[in-house]
Amino acid sequence: MTHKLLLPLALLAITGLIVSIAGCTKPAISSLKKPIINPADLDTTVKPGDDFHGYANGGWMKRTPLPPDRSRFGTFDELAQAAQKQVQSLIDDIAAGQFPNDPIAAKIALFYKTGMDEQKIEALGLTPIKPWLERIDALKNKQMLPTLLADFHRSGFSGFFSIYADQDGKNSARVITQLNQSGLTLGDRDYYLEESEKMATLRSAYLAHINRMFRLTGQTSDAEAILGLEKALAEISMDRNDLRDPHKTYNKMDLTGLNALTPDFDWSLYFEGLNLSPKEINVGQVEFFRAMGKIIAESSPDSLKAYLKWHLITSSAPYLSKALVDENFQFFGKIYAGQQEIQPRWKRVLRATDSALSEAVGKLYVNRHFPPQAKERMLKLVENLRLALGERIDQLAWMSEETKAKAQEKLQTIRVKIGYPDQWRDYASLEVNGDGYFENVGQGHRFNFDFLMGQIDKPVDPGIWGMPPQMVNAYYSPSMNEICFPAAILQPPFFYMDGDDAVNYGAIGVVIGHEMTHGFDDQGRLYDKIGNLSNWWSDEDNRRFADRAEVLVKQFDTYDVAPGLKADGRFTLGENIADLGGLNIAFTAVKRAWAEKKPAEKLEGFTPQQRFFLGYAHLWAQNIADQEITRRTKTDPHSLGRFRVIGPLRNLPEFHQAFDIKAGDYMFLTEGERAVIW
Ligand SMILES: [Zn+2]
Repeated sequence: MTHKLLLPLALLAITGLIVSIAGCTKPAISSLKKPIINPADLDTTVKPGDDFHGYANGGWMKRTPLPPDRSRFGTFDELAQAAQKQVQSLIDDIAAGQFPNDPIAAKIALFYKTGMDEQKIEALGLTPIKPWLERIDALKNKQMLPTLLADFHRSGFSGFFSIYADQDGKNSARVITQLNQSGLTLGDRDYYLEESEKMATLRSAYLAHINRMFRLTGQTSDAEAILGLEKALAEISMDRNDLRDPHKTYNKMDLTGLNALTPDFDWSLYFEGLNLSPKEINVGQVEFFRAMGKIIAESSPDSLKAYLKWHLITSSAPYLSKALVDENFQFFGKIYAGQQEIQPRWKRVLRATDSALSEAVGKLYVNRHFPPQAKERMLKLVENLRLALGERIDQLAWMSEETKAKAQEKLQTIRVKIGYPDQWRDYASLEVNGDGYFENVGQGHRFNFDFLMGQIDKPVDPGIWGMPPQMVNAYYSPSMNEICFPAAILQPPFFYMDGDDAVNYGAIGVVIGHEMTHGFDDQGRLYDKIGNLSNWWSDEDNRRFADRAEVLVKQFDTYDVAPGLKADGRFTLGENIADLGGLNIAFTAVKRAWAEKKPAEKLEGFTPQQRFFLGYAHLWAQNIADQEITRRTKTDPHSLGRFRVIGPLRNLPEFHQAFDIKAGDYMFLTEGERAVIW
């Protein structure tokens, strides 16, 4: 399990083209602008005390309307698309022969080329999925289902549940098999179960979409049966708040236990199909798996086949002919997420290439775009933040000395990964051929699946990275007790190689503090310094933490994110604790930096304190479609950009002081109302 700065990987969309990086052979970081506050980003008609997000980001938001091929676009996405452009020119250079004698680079270029070959993809039509459709039609009894699902999962098609390899929650030294509920096409059980008109309309559109997709693939549709089966799975799914409780999702058993839990599904056949013989299996949601067996047993063979065909078709559509790509976008892009136009093909193909060959692309990316001095600078910053959090833990009024000592130990043990892995993954055995895009995407899935599953029942490899270097994101892993900052996030507006500490600490400093705080948020605090779920807190401190966290839950529960929709304070609690902690820690750290080196008193008319908070707010400038607000509120544990600014800052007296915000202002909370945690 990892806690990312921004969003779950599967949801990360890297698109659009506004920022361009000149001179692609120069290190990007040293060639980018100095950290300054750009007055044009602000909207000075808004008072900082009324709405700090509107004040700090209003100018940026007005001049950067939502691009039609986006459902959300922010300063973070701006950087992500710059990184994407960097990867794109790398691929162009490989194709132009700049990397002779590099067989892995050749694979990257070939993968990309087959994705861009629309003529060939059209000519192939439905041929690539025919063998799969035939296999589904050939299902004679339910005993054949586990083997088929094994092949489904290994090839990247969804269905019923998911499997992956991760550390044992109570023995972090070992990697074990993890099974989790899945099998829904729409992002959360609420999409199936909520009775609102909005959701009912969406479900009708979903039914129509399923029918059109079946027509395009020449199959007989039974959309009602598919929706019915998914609705049944939604009903037995654990909700998003319980999913965040690592005790509820820790249920280790052996194969005998698993077969007893789901007697209607032969797990031996499933694992045989994957060439696995797992000793220990963690079942994330026991009730889901118990009931899933019954649903399979009670479903008619025809509705099971319809369900499997649907998951095959919807998982494959982006890699097939234009008619399928367009219909897939029409529903998932436009209706579901509120994106008006499909992204240009090259961006979609680049994302697929990046996902199949992630560290191979990353290695080339780092060589060209990541200067070694950025890593040194970051290491120094991280250590300053670690000192600041240590100082804050010492001074906590609500925590006992005994628990503080354990917290300090955990803090000192946090491992730091910056830029890129010491050891790169080997892509020699990944087969990429010129025969077809769909086939290459499938090969990529199987290659990555086998790599992951190859770790099962073995000691954990601490050198493995959970994100590739070219990704603009960061994470904390509670089982590893480590923080990771890939190369691509170490660029403006997050990280400025030289210049004003105020903005740097407000931006990347808060990001570092955010990730560190995840080790101590409502989930992370349940793990000890070696990454095991174990209670190192006194009962009294447990209670005090919960009370303090509850203040933040209640605050966020009151925020209206859209008409008739409130933020989910419990679902976003971990991220909100991390934002609040990150700000506190980074502000403590920048004060130490200022004590050593006096900051410029005013830049662009702003004091150092003001620049710190403006640097932070700027990270979360964004425009977003209404449908995307709904989708993220139900599926993304991070608060929306506006509330990542407003939510934590209302609690900070240092912020109030910097902008002269007083009692009675919206951005002001009294001492009694404030959340004070880390
Ligand atoms: Zn986070």
